[in-house]
Parts: sequence; structure tokens; C-alpha cells
Amino acid sequence: MEIEEAISEAELEDKPIPKIQRLEDSVVNRIAAGEVIQRPVSAVKELIENSLDADSTSISVVVKDGGLKLIQVSDDGHGIRYEDLPILCERHTTSKLSKFEDLQSIRSMGFRGEALASMTYVGHVTVTTITVGQLHGYRATYRDGLMVDEPKACAAVKGTQIMIENLFYNMAARRKTLQNSADDYTKIVDLISRFAVHHTHVSFSCRKHGAGRADIHTLATSSRLDAIRSVYGVSVARNLMKIEVSDTGPLNSVFNMDGFISNSNYIAKKITMVLFINDRLVDCGALKRAIEIVYAATLPKASKPFIYMSIILPPEHVDVNIHPTKREVSLLNQEFVIERIQSVVESKLRSSNESRTFQEQTLEFSSSSPMATIKDSTKDLSPSGIKSQKVPHKMVRTDTLDPSGRLHAYMQMKPPSISERGSFLSSVRSSIRQRRNPSETADLTSIQELVNEIDNDCHPGLLDVVRHCTYAGMADGIFALLQHNTLLYLVNVINLSKELMYQQVLHRFAHFNAIQLSEPASVPELIMLALKEEGTDPEGNESNEVRGKIAEMNTELLKQKAEMLEDYFSIYMDSNGNISRLPVILDQYTPDMDRLPEFLLCLGNDVDWEDEKICFQTIAAALGNFYALHPPLLPNPSGDGLKFYRKRVLSSGSEGTSIENIENGTMEAEIEEELLLEAENAWAQREWSIQHVLLPSLRLFFKPPTSMATNGTFVQVASLEKLYRIFERC
Ligand code: ADP
Ligand code: MG
Repeated sequence: MEIEEAISEAELEDKPIPKIQRLEDSVVNRIAAGEVIQRPVSAVKELIENSLDADSTSISVVVKDGGLKLIQVSDDGHGIRYEDLPILCERHTTSKLSKFEDLQSIRSMGFRGEALASMTYVGHVTVTTITVGQLHGYRATYRDGLMVDEPKACAAVKGTQIMIENLFYNMAARRKTLQNSADDYTKIVDLISRFAVHHTHVSFSCRKHGAGRADIHTLATSSRLDAIRSVYGVSVARNLMKIEVSDTGPLNSVFNMDGFISNSNYIAKKITMVLFINDRLVDCGALKRAIEIVYAATLPKASKPFIYMSIILPPEHVDVNIHPTKREVSLLNQEFVIERIQSVVESKLRSSNESRTFQEQTLEFSSSSPMATIKDSTKDLSPSGIKSQKVPHKMVRTDTLDPSGRLHAYMQMKPPSISERGSFLSSVRSSIRQRRNPSETADLTSIQELVNEIDNDCHPGLLDVVRHCTYAGMADGIFALLQHNTLLYLVNVINLSKELMYQQVLHRFAHFNAIQLSEPASVPELIMLALKEEGTDPEGNESNEVRGKIAEMNTELLKQKAEMLEDYFSIYMDSNGNISRLPVILDQYTPDMDRLPEFLLCLGNDVDWEDEKICFQTIAAALGNFYALHPPLLPNPSGDGLKFYRKRVLSSGSEGTSIENIENGTMEAEIEEELLLEAENAWAQREWSIQHVLLPSLRLFFKPPTSMATNGTFVQVASLEKLYRIFERC
């Protein structure tokens, strides 16, 4: 549409259509370089990985002005051969990969040969290196992928030193934003801390240019715990438990995980997750969330853990050919791996929690025992991850202004017990919230009660089904076919997703990420739309007026509640009555915006704003209904729905004849291609979401209510054993 309009306008005004031009190489390279090296910390990561690939045992980093003025990484690795220096910084020059097949088995951290090249396009690079057996080293400088002058002989100690000066000197906007934001130094220290914990045989150090003392300095050690202690401090190391799991089953993926996780004494504001997969430092959001959930449910007071994990998988199970800066990985059988890890973490926490229950109870009501250990006070500068762990020395606060410190806050909670996993989640969240927002004194036990109700009403049999089922396919627009052991179930996707969303709204209460609408939408107009669709009396000015009034009143009501909707549900509406933000309820999932009008109407009509608990419950239910995986509004073109896409042709004016004619075979079917394509996309997208978003989330988060066993949400259709027996007889 837009393109057509643009073209016809251009024709009308007789303007020349813009000519497509090839960008100059230097521009292309600079754009690409900006993508690889997004911030100073990304350059440091690449340089350290190169040093590790060169078998170094000691790596030291010096940083000036957050990395914008200078980044210097020195190692004692194997060095770079003199004859390689001229092409060192060209794009796609690497010593680590020569054939595509090598990608399958690559174990080094680099292989794209892009990092150094990129740095030369956005900064001034100087390399000093010496290889074994040489009397002196060489120094070379690089610009835009090329070596400037011949390498100069110079004195050098074993290994390589790479210096990047004036990063982003030619990208004014990037430099400006970086200069305005907090500088990257803490990020760099945090990064090096992570490397130091994993690569225990390498000694790391990092300091600011000109500073006498290093902010981080670790010695090579053989003990992981020692490494953690020297980086993150005694207080962290003291509260860690070892964890291990390995799986060699022929059916699922083969993997090995070992690591350390914090116990109930470790209290922090933010989760610290140090994750290495096949020795690469990576992020895995899904795994992180899965672990966080377990902590929130098992150790609600210590729900922000410290986690170090190293996972080893066959290299072909990790997708390495992803964008170089993408630290997020994807694994083959990811769900399975995550689930296995989640369950060992859970059992580890439970067993440690059981043995501690008594102690926790006494601590809760005493007024003086320090609950959390005092942070190692000798470490004044620590990586950002650690800074956030500055914990209150006492769990029982004495500050009268802080509502979560009052005794009644404890009185209302029962001591944690295993049967009530998760019941503390919301209270912890609300107390965190209150701490952030001291003026806010809402007593949010109502959310806790709602979460408890979900937990108490959970059907254990169905829980087992959702946790361990496999997806077989969609039976129709509403029912999916799931296999659990030898049983097949038809499950109602709409009911399931509605309930899952409802539960997630309560769990994420006041902690939503936001979906930003591309353009703010007028709430009264949307409500009008919904009323029209709902309307039994479609025409007539009078009813239009009435609708206008209703829309206006509902909008006013929502405006009054705007602050609460924003704070707790991340639904943002401005003072002009435009809505521009919605909550993320499941990651990677956005609801069908065609249902937004209905949702707004529902907020106005169906929510009980008087009673706090019912209010939250009804808002959560309305969101649940909005975000549920309803069938797309266009009929499914595969099957009977195809009729809908046949063109209503014939100009003769005789209505309804075309379809009859087609069915009688007297006419060629003409299809509305565009609409059909849209419908096919919508249905395919939905099935994808069911398989890849809904089912994994059900496995991780869902507590099936008992009613679902009998209300037709789960229907057992066949037992494979019986089917096999029937087939055997044939
Ligand atoms: P990649 O790491 O993907 O191969 P880079 O651009 O990061 O690409 O590095 C290019 C090449 O330079 C590497 O393959 C390696 O041979 C060499 N190199 C870079 N840094 C070092 C270092 N610190 N020690 C030895 N060789 C290095
Ligand atoms: Mg590299």
C-alpha cells in the first residue's frame, strides 16, 4: 500500500524516482564494524578471546576514558608471525578456520576474522608481537583494514599487545551517546571477572590507565571456588553450592553441566549469571529465567542468585554461526537441557532449604541476627554485577519508613515451607517494589493470595502431562495433540493459553517489560470500534451517540486508573487518552492487536475497581483473554475455510450464485490471493507460537487448575498401547 502510494505520488509530481547506488566499500566496512564493535566492552571481549585462543596464561588490560581513548590488551600467547602482519587486519583473515566444514567442530572463540578488521575501521590499532625463538618483536599500525608502513622491529616480551586508540573517532553520534552514558569501565571489569572465573588457569588483571593499582587481579589457580573468591569476594564464595549434571542418554542431547549456585544466605538485588557454553561466554535468557523461577519459588528471600555454570555440548549442537556480537546462543534440544538443569537446581535448593527451615524461622523474628553476610569491605571497586549485591546487613530492617521492615510484614507471612513454593514470590516482589518506591504503601498481599490460590489448585496429574509432553500437531483451530508417555491428549489451546497468561500476569506483577506500540492509539476510538463490533443494533445515529458516551466514560475511568495500570501492568496511557505500551507477558510473544479494542472495552466494563484483590484478578483475566492464542480472525484456508477466499465474482447482480456455480463445477474458482496469503501467514505464525512459545512456557511455568481435568481442556483420546495391540492383531 505505502509503496504504491509513494510511487504514484512521485509520478504525479513528476519527481525522478531515487536511483539505487552502491555504497563505497569504506562506508560498508564502517557500518559493519560498528555492528561488531558496539561499545568499548565488545572490543575488549574480542581481544581477550583472541588472547585466550593464542594459549595465553596471563592477560592484562589497561583502559583509559572508559575505553574510548585507549584499550590495551597484553598477553603471553604464541604471538603472530611476521609474514602474517600485513593481512592481520583485513576482513575475513583468520588462522582458525579454513573450510566451511571446520565450523562444525570449531573450538576456538574466534573464527570469522572480523574483529581486528572491524577495530581498524572505527579506531587506531597498533599491534606489537613476538613469536617464540625471535630476538625482537615487531610493531605495526593499521587503518581501515590495512597496515600503515612496514612493521618496525622493536623490543618485546613474550606474546602480543594490541592497542586501540580513539575508538569511534569517526562515528560522532556513537561517541556522543557513549560519552553521555555511564562509561564502560565497570562493564569491562565485569567482563574480565567472568572470564577469570571460568579460565582459572589464566591470570587476569585490569586497571585504569595511570592507576597504580589494578581493580581486578587474579592468579592462575586450579580451584574454581578460589577463582570466584578472588573475583567476587569471600561473602559470595562462602555461600555457594556445587552443582553438576550430565546426560548421555541416546534419545536426547548429550551434555554436561557443572557449576556453583548460591544458597539461601546469599541475598542480592540482581541475579548474577556467569554462563559458559563450550568455553564461550554467552547469555541464555531462557535458562536464566528458568533458574530465576526456581529460586523465586524455593528460596523467595534469596530469589536473586549468583550462578556460575559451564555447559559442554557436542560442538554441532551449538549454533555458532550467529552474528558475532550476538551473545545469545541457541542449542539443539534447548528445552530439554534447560529442563534438566532446572530440575537439578530445584532439588539442590530444596534439600538445602529443608535443612535450613528452622534456622530461617528463628532468624525471621529475631531483631539482631544478621541474615546476610557483610560484603568484603576491602573490595571497593567491583564489577557491576557485584555492586548490585551490596546487601542490607540485616534482613530485619529497622527503618520505620520502609514498610517491608515493619514487623507486621513478617506476621502476615507464614514461614516458608516446601508445599507453599512460590507463595512468597509476590510478597518479595511487592517488598522490592516498596523499597524502590518508598511513598508507595499499597499492601499487596492480595497478589500473594491469588498466587497461592493458583498453587493450591494445581492438578498434579496434569502438571506431569504439561511438563513432559511432546507436541504432535494441531488437530484443528482449537485443539492441539500432545503425547505424554503412551497417552495422547487433545488440549484446548485457547483455554490453556488464557490461563497461562493469567498466571504469568500475577507472577510478573509490577515487573513487566514493555511492548511499545508503533504509534499511540486513541482509547476512545478503539472502544468505539469494540462497541460497534459488539453492537446488536448496527445502524442509527442515536446508538452511535450512546456509544460515544460509553467510550468517553470508559476512557475517563481508565485515565483515573492510568497510574496503577502503568505501575503494576505496564499498560501506558497518556493524559490525552492514547495507549502506547502493553506488558510483555511471555517473552517473544505479542498479542493479536486486532483484539486490543475488545480488551479496552473489557477493562472498562468487566473490571471491579473497588476491591483490590478482585481488581487485580479481573485485570489479569482480561489480559489473559487478550493475549491468549485465539485462532486468527481470518478463517483457516487449509480445509473448509478456503471457500471464504474465493472471489465473489459475477456482475449480474444475482447474489450467491458464484459459489453455487463453483461448487457445481461450472466456473473456475478465483481466489483472493492477497487475503489468502495473509491468512496462511497468520495461521502458520500461530502454530509456530503454539509450538515454540506456548508449550515451552507451559512446561516451565504453568500450574494447571483442577477444573481443566474435567472441563474439556484436556481430553485423553487414545492410549498408544491399545492402538498397538489393535495393530498387532491385524
Ligand atoms: P578471529 O579471531 O575470528 O580469527 P580476529 O580478527 O579476531 O579473527 O583475529 C584475526 C587473527 O589474528 C586470528 O585468527 C589470529 O591468528 C590472529 N590474532 C589476533 N589476536 C592475536 C593474539 N593476541 N595472539 C595471537 N594471534 C592473534
Ligand atoms: Mg577473534
